[in-house]
Amino acid sequence: MAYKISDACINCGACESECPAEAISEENGARWIDPGKCVSCGVCVSACPVEAIAEA
Ligand code: SF4
Ligand code: SF4
Repeated sequence: MAYKISDACINCGACESECPAEAISEENGARWIDPGKCVSCGVCVSACPVEAIAEA
């Protein structure tokens, strides 16, 4: 089960810095999680200041 970033994302980059799998990248002014790389560790969820990340 991969995690997903919602429209609430303010593109701060905190999740990308914390992700151990390098699954998060920037696309069209927001961050995006590659489901093929995400190992569902949940680290990005607590890194996000606006609670934009949840299990998909
Ligand atoms: S759940 Fe873990 S592996 Fe998946 S995007 Fe978040 S930090 Fe990266
Ligand atoms: S930490 Fe949250 S607000 Fe910041 S880029 Fe990631 S998903 Fe967007």
